[in-house]
Amino acid sequence: MGLATTLETLRENIEKIQKNSPLAADQVRILGASKGQPPSLILEAIESGMTDFGENRVQEAEGKWEDIKNRFPNLWLHLIGPLQTNKVKQAVALFDVIQTIDRIKLADALADEMQKAGRQLPCFIQVNIGKEPQKAGVMPEDAATLIEHCTTQLRLNVVGLMCVPQHDQPPAPHFASLRDMAQRHALPELSMGMSDDFETAIRMGSTCIRLGRILFGERS
Ligand SMILES: *Cc1c(COP(=O)(O)O)cnc(C)c1O
Repeated sequence: MGLATTLETLRENIEKIQKNSPLAADQVRILGASKGQPPSLILEAIESGMTDFGENRVQEAEGKWEDIKNRFPNLWLHLIGPLQTNKVKQAVALFDVIQTIDRIKLADALADEMQKAGRQLPCFIQVNIGKEPQKAGVMPEDAATLIEHCTTQLRLNVVGLMCVPQHDQPPAPHFASLRDMAQRHALPELSMGMSDDFETAIRMGSTCIRLGRILFGERS
């Protein structure tokens, strides 16, 4: 099946879920998680009407995306992987959305760089919703402080929350608790749901699903 067909089937599926789920958002953005995928596939996705893409690593993204972004200036490139403070300058120059703010030091560095670069990018706070020791994301109990710091102190454009729940647990309770947290802080966007759990995520109110394998096939 070609990418265009996959995308069409996916859109129909999403629409059906939206109709049948009272908590589903009116608009669900499909973000192509394109790490490890060649530019040829990304171009095919753009030709099929995709406008949002996510990359995990600044360096890989720079190599792949500078050229594509020059050719297609209206795309949204999201950073969905962990960001080191020494890569903040490159990240702010290349990406259009930062989804992975998870600590105060990083938020400070991003706010500083966005000011310098004159690019106030939409941001998500990444929450380690399953409290996994090895995983990126602010711990749920520290999230309120970080969100407050980003919005009140730094005046970052925080639009929502993002999470990557455990593989080995049912995702619904994690998605529900991310949604509750976003509501408490009046944040409209929820970036949650990947190839294996996007249907559940949409039922729980996701506004941005991040799809890799289901769109592009297995990564090389
Ligand atoms: C790779 C990745 C995805 C996509 O994962 P699939 O299971 O291939 O859909 C989504 N979000 C993040 C943060 C990722 O690293």
